[in-house]
Amino acid sequence: MSDSTVPYTTGNTGIPVESDSDSLTAGALGPILLHDHYLIEKMAQFNRERVPERVVHAKGGGAYGVFEVTQDVSRFTRADLFQPGRRTDMLARFSTVAGELGSPDTWRDPRGFALKFYTEHGNYDMVGNNTPVFFVRDPMKFQDFIRSQKRRPDSGLRDHDMQWDFWTLSPESAHQVAWLMGDRGIPRTWRNMNGYSSHTYMWINAGGERFWVKYHFKTDQGIAFLTQDEGDAMAGEDADAHRRDLFDSIRRGEHPSWTMYVQVMPFDEAWDYRFNPFDLTKVWPHGDYPLIEVGRMTLNRNPDDYHVHIEQAAFEPSNLVPGISVSPDKMLLGRIFSYADTHRYRIGPNYAQLPPNRPHSPVHSYSKDGPMRYEPADTAAVYAPNSYGGPAADPGRFGEPVGWDVAGRMVREAYPLHREDDDFGQAGTLVREVLDDAARDRLVSNVTGHLSDGVSDPVLTRAVQYWRSIDKDLGDRIATGIGRA
Ligand code: NDP
Repeated sequence: MSDSTVPYTTGNTGIPVESDSDSLTAGALGPILLHDHYLIEKMAQFNRERVPERVVHAKGGGAYGVFEVTQDVSRFTRADLFQPGRRTDMLARFSTVAGELGSPDTWRDPRGFALKFYTEHGNYDMVGNNTPVFFVRDPMKFQDFIRSQKRRPDSGLRDHDMQWDFWTLSPESAHQVAWLMGDRGIPRTWRNMNGYSSHTYMWINAGGERFWVKYHFKTDQGIAFLTQDEGDAMAGEDADAHRRDLFDSIRRGEHPSWTMYVQVMPFDEAWDYRFNPFDLTKVWPHGDYPLIEVGRMTLNRNPDDYHVHIEQAAFEPSNLVPGISVSPDKMLLGRIFSYADTHRYRIGPNYAQLPPNRPHSPVHSYSKDGPMRYEPADTAAVYAPNSYGGPAADPGRFGEPVGWDVAGRMVREAYPLHREDDDFGQAGTLVREVLDDAARDRLVSNVTGHLSDGVSDPVLTRAVQYWRSIDKDLGDRIATGIGRA
């Protein structure tokens, strides 16, 4: 008897299958027949179920939501999504950086904080972290940095010696390392952490005036962290603790939210500000550039298919919309190439047609064909210019060039130093002026624990010097902690 209320199984092309459980054989003991197409389809599909994991930020989770503008910042930007009263659909993905797909959520690491806004003028992506700074300031060093944090070529194991070797030979990492080794290096949940653009971007208002901006998304749930011991215990108990927490809280109807602020620097102040404002290892102190509220993002909808919506989500800093542009931050300029390139490799050249990446605004593109393309071209004309009604760029509305003046020979040089630029100063401020005694004690304990696990000379000696350069007293305590007083 068939039950007509249960849908019948089909293969991928909709043809009803004969059995969910028995393969086609020549007699009950006979060999399996090659023309059992449904069995072959099941095996072949299964063999191809994975896409390559992201080379960084592999382990993560995310949800859809909405961004609502609560304050008028139109004097700084004409970007559609930041205009008064606007509500924009969005997607967020949070992640660890160095761990693989199955790695624990509570390993000490920065967290990715990637946002995609489906605006009137296409997708705008803010691919940030839960920290306002980064380990390096030139994209030439990024691949080396990541390799030092991943696994050794010989044993396939992660290695603290390799990590500290890179860090201590790259003193620009000090600010981010001081941040990472502190309480915020293991958030209690993704809901309990802030997000930062880290990079400096340019905003352009309707009058063509330019500003430099940094974004801050402050958690409305409050900051909370795990100690090293709590993080280690959770890594064993529930490797997916953060993914589970976000999914479960949204399912319960508890929708996490973040208030977005910007720091805004007038265009001309950048050149002689006391810190180089484009150096990704530096913050702009709030005393110099206070936070200005913009709006609130709320995550309110779980993906109904993790692979489709989160694994295939493709965030890219090159997704910039009119009213927002880049800055001379070299890491940002490097990422503009790198992200779209990795998506083409990982999920194919037509990744922008996948559900989480598809803009909610119309696409009139001249790109065509390629593997897995399924949206037909919306015009018969596949070249520009044409006489047959194909799209035409509208420089009157969108063609205004935005940037800054450049001149000079081609060079390979570090940024020009501004008055107070150095590698250790802002890390020292964090340790001395932001952390309280208990947080400083936990920082010393976290660093001594990390250094006592497989780090040897000459790296260990350099590590003590590195911390003394951040703060003499803290460095001395760390030296004592590892028996090098
Ligand atoms: P402020 O006193 O105005 O701000 C200090 C910032 O430190 C706050 O944003 C606060 O975060 C954050 N903070 C608090 N505890 C920790 C912690 N355990 N680990 C990391 N960050 C923490 O000072 P300034 O703006 O002058 O900056 C001083 C130092 O604070 C900087 O050198 C930098 O290391 C750090 N910082 C600065 C930020 C900035 O954009 N100016 C942003 C984050 C850190 P919260 O948002 O929860 O208040």
